[in-house]
Amino acid sequence: MTGSNQQGNLQDHSDLSHGVCLGFDTRAIHHAFDPAAFSRAVQPPVFLTSTYGFESVAANDAAASHGGRLYAREYNPTTEILEQRLANLEGAEAGLVVTTGMAAFGTLILSLLSQDDELVVHNTLYSNTVAMVEQGLPRFGIKVVPVDLSEPSNLDAAITDKTKLVYFETPVNPLSTILDIAAIAERAHGLNVKVAVDSTFASPALQRPIEHGADIVLHSLTKYINGHGDTLGGALLGDAETLHMLRETGLRYITGATLSPHSAFLILRGLKTLSLRMERHSASALAIARMLEAHPAVAWVSYPFLESRSIARKQMTQGSGMLAFGLHSGFEGARTMLDRLQLVTRAVSLGDTDSLIYHPASILRARQSIRKDAHLIEGVGEDLVRLSVGLEDVSDLIADLRQALQVL
Ligand SMILES: *Cc1c(COP(=O)(O)O)cnc(C)c1O
Repeated sequence: MTGSNQQGNLQDHSDLSHGVCLGFDTRAIHHAFDPAAFSRAVQPPVFLTSTYGFESVAANDAAASHGGRLYAREYNPTTEILEQRLANLEGAEAGLVVTTGMAAFGTLILSLLSQDDELVVHNTLYSNTVAMVEQGLPRFGIKVVPVDLSEPSNLDAAITDKTKLVYFETPVNPLSTILDIAAIAERAHGLNVKVAVDSTFASPALQRPIEHGADIVLHSLTKYINGHGDTLGGALLGDAETLHMLRETGLRYITGATLSPHSAFLILRGLKTLSLRMERHSASALAIARMLEAHPAVAWVSYPFLESRSIARKQMTQGSGMLAFGLHSGFEGARTMLDRLQLVTRAVSLGDTDSLIYHPASILRARQSIRKDAHLIEGVGEDLVRLSVGLEDVSDLIADLRQALQVL
C-alpha cells in the first residue's frame, strides 16, 4: 500500500486487501483503524486523557526510549489514526496534525528554518500566511522572498545558498489559479531545495502533490477534509524523518499546538465522505462558473477546470468547489450582490457543506480602520469575490446568485 505508515499498533488493512492496493475511499473509511484493538467499536473512540500510566519504571523507560508515548501533547490514539490515515491518502510516509492550518504553517517554518535562512514563497497566499511571512518571520531573522511561481524559472534567481524551502498553494487562495507542482519541484530540487505545498483548496481526493514531486503537504483540515464547518485543524504530511522532527521539535516545544482528540474524531468522520463531497463540490462549482461566465454583469471568472487548462488537468482530477469572479460594477457591485444573497452565506472560511461567499476588499477596508498596515494581497483586486460552493442543490445556488446579480 503506497505510503502506508506503520509506526503504531494500528493495522493498515492490508489483510483486507489480499495484497492488492485498496482504493482511496476504502482507505478514507478504514485505514489505520483496527476495531479489534478497540473493543470492536466500529468507529474510533475518543481518548480524553492528558497522560499515560505505566505498570513499572522499566516500562516507562521503554516507552520513553521508543518515541515517548507519555503525554498527550505528542501522542493520542484517536489523533494517531487521523495522522496515519491522512498520510496514507496523500501518499506520504508520515503525518502530523495540529490545531489549525496556521499552526501547521508555524510548526513547519519554525522547525525547519532558523535565523538567516531564506524562504521562497509564491507572491499570492492565504491572507494570514501573508501576515506570517511579512510580519512574523522577519522578526525572527528569516528572510522571505516572494516570487511569481506561475513562471517556475523565476526560482533560479530567487534561490540562494541560504534558501531552505519553497512554499506555495495550489489552487491559490483566493484566486483559484493553478501552479505547476512538478515544474516547480523539479527546479527547486535541481537547486537542492525542498518544496512544501498547501493543498487545502484541493484535498487529497483531487490532488496529491507528493505524486508530482513535492516533499511536504500542508492542509487546513478546517476546510474540505473536515468539510462540515464545525472544527479547526491543520496537517503536515511528508517523509518520516522530516515529520519526526516536526513532531519532536515543532509540536513538542515550539508551538505545542496539539489537536484535541474530539476534533480528530470529527475530522475522521468528515474524511469518510471526502471524495463524495469533492465530486459534488466540483460539479456544482463548474456549473456555477459556466453560469457566471455567461452572465452580462460578470467581468471575469477564475475556476481551474473552466477551460481545458492543461496544468490543472495534469495535477487535479476535478476542479474543486472554489471559484473567484469580478463584476463590471466592481467594488460597489460586489457589496450589492453579497447583500442580496438569500441562500449563500456571507462568511469567510471555505470547504463547508454550506456555500460561503466573501469579498476580501470589503473586509480589508473595514479592517484598515483598526490596522493601518492592512493591504490587499498581491493579485487580489477590489472587485474580487470568492465563492466556496457547498453541497446544496446547484439549481438553488444558481437561482440565488442570478437573483442577486439581476440589478447589476
Ligand atoms: C484557511 C487556510 C489556511 C489556514 O487554516 P486555518 O485552519 O484557518 O488556520 C491555510 N491555507 C489555506 C489555503 C487556507 O484556505
